[in-house]
Formats: sequence, C-alpha cells, structure tokens
Amino acid sequence: MTTGSAAAPEGDGDLAIGVDVGGTKVAAGVVDAQGRMLASARRPTPSHAPAEVADAIAELVAGLRQEYDVRAVGIGAAGWIDRDRSTVLFAPNLAWRDEPLRDVVAERVGLPVVVENDANAMAWAEYRFGAGRGQADLVCVTVGTGIGGGIVLDGRLHRGAFGIGAEMGHMQVVPGGHLCGCGNHGCWEQYASGRALVRVAQEMATASPEAARRMLAGRAVEELSGPDVTAAAQDGDPAAVKCFEEIGHWLGQGLASLTAILDPGRFVIGGGVSDAGDLLVGPARAQYRAGLSGRGHRPEADVVVATLGSSAGIVGAADLARR
Ligand SMILES: [Zn+2]
Repeated sequence: MTTGSAAAPEGDGDLAIGVDVGGTKVAAGVVDAQGRMLASARRPTPSHAPAEVADAIAELVAGLRQEYDVRAVGIGAAGWIDRDRSTVLFAPNLAWRDEPLRDVVAERVGLPVVVENDANAMAWAEYRFGAGRGQADLVCVTVGTGIGGGIVLDGRLHRGAFGIGAEMGHMQVVPGGHLCGCGNHGCWEQYASGRALVRVAQEMATASPEAARRMLAGRAVEELSGPDVTAAAQDGDPAAVKCFEEIGHWLGQGLASLTAILDPGRFVIGGGVSDAGDLLVGPARAQYRAGLSGRGHRPEADVVVATLGSSAGIVGAADLARR
C-alpha cells in the first residue's frame, strides 16, 4: 500500500472516502465537501476473489481513517449496481455476481457505505466540481478501452429503474456491425473507444504500411497501442490524426443521437482517450453538429473535455456517499 497526503487534516467535519475499484488497482482517497482530495492510497486489485476485494477496500479505509475523521464511504465499481446502491449485480472484469458489497464493506468499516457505478461516479464528480459544473442537464461520456457514461438530469444522477442506466457504450450505431463483448453487434463502443482507435490504426497500417510508418515507429502492426496512436497524432502524423478523425466522427454521431433523447446542455468527454483533447473532441463536435436533428433550428450542447482526470471516480463516489 502506498499512501500520499496532499494537505494537512482540515477537520471540516464533512469528509468522506471515495474508493475506485478497477481491474488492476483499488484506489481510495479522503475527499472534502469542495471535492478536494486530501489524501490517497492504493493497492493492486486481488483477482477473482470477492472477499479479498472487500478486505482490500476495508484496509485502505482503515489506513486513511488513522489521520482523517470521515463519515461515509462511497465505492465506485465497474459493473451494474442495483438501484439502492448496495449490490453489484454483475462486473465483467471482476468476480462479483450479485455481490452485497455495501453490507460486506459496511460491516468491516463500521461506516455508512454506498456503491455506485464507476462511470456514474465520474459523471457526478465532473458535474459537481469539474467541466460540468453549473450545468444541471449533463451527459458525461467516458472514452476508455470501451465507453461508459453517466447522465445528470435536472441536477440528479439518473440511475434508471433498475440502477443500470447510462450504459451508452452499448447503444447500437451500426446494425450488424462489429461484435461487442456484450454479445450484440454494432455497439457505439466498437466504433468510438480506445479499442476502436487501435482497430482503426491497425487496419490502416495493414492496408497502407507506408502511410502508417511514423505511427508504427518500427513496431509490428499488432503491437500498436492507443497511446502510440495518440503520441503520433499529437506529433502531427497525418495517419494517426485520421484515426482520431474516424473515432471522433463516431463519437459525435452518438452524441447527436443522445441529444435527440436527452437534450443535454453539455457533453463532458472523459476517460483515457480524451487525453488526446481536440484531436478527438474536434471531429466529435463537428459530427455532433452535422448529425443533430433539426440542426440550425435548435440550441446546441457544448462538447468539452473532462477536467478531473483519473481522480474523478474517487471524488464522485465520495461526494455521492454524503447524499
Ligand atoms: Zn455492446
């Protein structure tokens, strides 16, 4: 376990711990009412054993509480969480199946605990403290390996009737398209995610090795990764820029479809792929405008990059635990 303190204990009486459970690490932080992270700690995710993940969470919480007086714990997890924020129904990358995580952790730590979907927690953090601040109708799209998302409507997190809403990465954009891990074909995340970026780049490198020479930088086609493509695009490589144009186009098309349903005032684009900034968001914005129904006769949402980075999951889960 590594621990870092960014500031001295402030004792403002309204501290909560946010926990971000990912496939490779469990990260936790003490967060104050202004969304500032006062201290953090992390450890590797114990693989395949639900009880050990709960133990890891409890140990991180216990370590942070040695210095800080907190009143609640919020856990953000990549999975389907039931509406009462207690049970992980299903987590594709972890061993949880109908895992009563809230009660298991609450018993170990002796504090109120809530469990939230990780993308919902990130969206909430951006709404409260980041790029979505002040915009009560907001959609946050997390573009990582896949696509996750969170929806804030009228200042409230929209969870859906069963708690598993906002799984927008699995909205179908291409009937009969690429097979998705969810079992369907043509899901949005197969066209506008980090995985899609790599697929597009590898297809291009296979079809035109000469055009992709800079992007490949001596690597074999199958070794090409998302960060390689991002670095080449940031360096001005036209082939890599074109890859971002393609996934950005699909990203914007999805935003236009979401607008037809939700009419948000702002889209916040987060996740690892959003590190590319305007390389991704520029083409997304253009296709969002081009794909809007009734374009030219309606207000348009802003499309902006998230500002809280990788701490958003912790900050959002902690803030939601206070509610
Ligand atoms: Zn899918």
